[in-house]
Amino acid sequence: MKVSIIGSGYVGSVSAACFADLGHEVICIDIDEEKVKQINAGIAPIWEEGLDDLLAKYTQKSLIATSDYDYAVQNSDASFICVGTPSDEFGNIDLSIVKAASASLGRAIAKKDHYHVVVVKSTVVPETTEKVVLPIVEEYSGKKAGKDFGIAMNPEFLREGKAVYDFMNPDKIVVGAIDERSGFVVSELYRELDCEVTHTNPRTAEMIKYVNNSFLATKISFANEVGNICKQLGIDTYEVMDAVGTDFRIERQFLNSGAGFGGSCFPKDVKAIIGKAKDIGYEPQLLRSVVEVNDRQPLKMIELLQEKVTKLKGKRIAVLGLAFKNDTDDIRESRSIPVIAELQRLGADIAAYDPMAEEHMKKLFPEITYCKNSSEALLEADGCLIMTEWSEFRELDKEFNVMANRIVIDGRHMIKPERLSVEIDYSGICW
Ligand code: NAD
Repeated sequence: MKVSIIGSGYVGSVSAACFADLGHEVICIDIDEEKVKQINAGIAPIWEEGLDDLLAKYTQKSLIATSDYDYAVQNSDASFICVGTPSDEFGNIDLSIVKAASASLGRAIAKKDHYHVVVVKSTVVPETTEKVVLPIVEEYSGKKAGKDFGIAMNPEFLREGKAVYDFMNPDKIVVGAIDERSGFVVSELYRELDCEVTHTNPRTAEMIKYVNNSFLATKISFANEVGNICKQLGIDTYEVMDAVGTDFRIERQFLNSGAGFGGSCFPKDVKAIIGKAKDIGYEPQLLRSVVEVNDRQPLKMIELLQEKVTKLKGKRIAVLGLAFKNDTDDIRESRSIPVIAELQRLGADIAAYDPMAEEHMKKLFPEITYCKNSSEALLEADGCLIMTEWSEFRELDKEFNVMANRIVIDGRHMIKPERLSVEIDYSGICW
């Protein structure tokens, strides 16, 4: 089949490369000319394991990029909207980018003389596909949904860092369509994958995505709350969760306590569904607490540090890990951001290291010191905060020797002090 993908960020570029790998002809559309050029040169616009290889294999063969909506729509059967849906200043979903993409799509569909399917893959709150995207496409195309064009919602569940693998090995494919014809076109695109397709209506598909992310976020905040209580009682929360997680109704994953969740999805998606609930007159108490626990959690790292280093002004503090999680260069909502901001407020001298995310963090905090490796960050440091679960931090040992004071606050359960050859003053955030 022929498919166009609007937006070449994490979801768009991975979907494009994977659809090409499934044998489809793919056209990427992005308003960012730099990304268009990169993709046409076979270079991934973001870092994702395996993405460079797929783009190198299919670019200029079955995959091309353009900023021309008309060309892309004329030469494809379906267009996937994969643009960003950030939070607005109140935490509610900001649909302005989705609206702009829908209008451009509508204008291009106006010039097409046969059926086209519009697919929303961006994470959007329930009712958006039917009450926002559909009317905009109708308005700008002058055509009728369900007759001249189809419309469906197909949420994406990939994990950053493992996105290509997740796309090709999904545990669920959800297609929420306004009619059978649209749903059929979308599910055909996934025919080669070994996964049953859940067919439903658009608003249910939209809700499935939010419930999925909100539940995972709830598990993490639950684990962090339990972890905070365990720490005060001198109980190892990881031992607790290892036992609790053996219950098949609960499952061990996402019960690791730490400095909280970040990334482009969980924080904004939980806030967006809270906003939607408020719009319909429901007060989502539990989801509000999930966000509150998560907002407090990174600052616990500073509280623990201050128990050991009372005056942070002028003290060198190593921050290990800037990405919101390991195996990605994405820093969106990373828990290291509030930690660095608070350290700065307290006058600390910050030496940061991350294997991948330095360039992104430099845009937010150009004034802090960025180091080539952990040893350089730890040199003469008065304290160290571990913020991301990069596997290389698990191997740290003699590197702590170069610190002025070997105070280590671990936000990700990376260090086992009893196994080190060096003595350190260690605190885990919840253990
Ligand atoms: P992103 O910000 O990385 O990429 C969005 C892309 O859209 C950018 O390249 C931007 O230049 C482009 N764009 C903006 N306006 C455009 C327009 N009018 N026409 C064409 N292109 C335009 O976003 P992302 O992380 O890929 O997320 C996209 C959506 O997918 C969001 O709704 C997000 O919540 C959801 N999602 C993300 C993930 C993830 O892990 N990142 C996972 C599942 C779902």
